[in-house]
Amino acid sequence: MDLQKNKTIVFENIRLATKTANRPENSVSVIAVTKYVDSAVAGQLIDTGVEHIAENRVDKFLDKYEALKDKPVTWHLIGTLQRRKVKEVINLVDYFHALDSVRLASEIEKRADHPVKCFLQVNISEEESKHGFKVSEIEEAIDEIGKMEKIQLVGLMTMAPADASQESIAAIFQEANQLRKNLQSKKRKNMPFTELSMGMSRDYQIAIQEGSTFVRIGTSFFH
Ligand SMILES: *Cc1c(COP(=O)(O)O)cnc(C)c1O
Repeated sequence: MDLQKNKTIVFENIRLATKTANRPENSVSVIAVTKYVDSAVAGQLIDTGVEHIAENRVDKFLDKYEALKDKPVTWHLIGTLQRRKVKEVINLVDYFHALDSVRLASEIEKRADHPVKCFLQVNISEEESKHGFKVSEIEEAIDEIGKMEKIQLVGLMTMAPADASQESIAAIFQEANQLRKNLQSKKRKNMPFTELSMGMSRDYQIAIQEGSTFVRIGTSFFH
């Protein structure tokens, strides 16, 4: 595993993808998903210049955070969060990407000591196995979440099905961006909806073409 080389390749691909999409290079933040490696390796990747780190499980997030909290990184929690674990982690997280129920939002509201930047997870393809709100559920959910003070809805997070074609991945990402724009245009308090968390190792270039602002990349760094 040559971290420096992998990092160079990923960042170059992102530079090219933003160029192709006619977007400024700095409009996309690269999040390294460190779930495949230990804290020492994650620390080495940070030392190459990666500024955003993510974990998808609370226990692993806490391990990495404890080991690396003095490094200059922004911390992302990207996976499903059980309500009983909210209090252990929520005040350490800079961005939470998997807000998937109003009940979870209520628990964050109760436990957070400051407003938390959250992405609503949306299940555009309505895959049974995936978490997240269906598109038809979002209006009602944000009416409820709008009453809360500690939830700041910065954007939407979505994933395409593992077996989707390039075309259907693009269609899903495009729909997420359209939905995000509609929500942004409502200008509700605490709901800027400026961000889109989409794109993983297999599909980050498509995601950038469709307007992603945060790509979550694991395998391409750590292989
Ligand atoms: C693991 C994971 C990623 C990164 O996936 P890769 O295919 O390894 O790039 C992105 N998002 C979530 C939610 C993940 O759990």
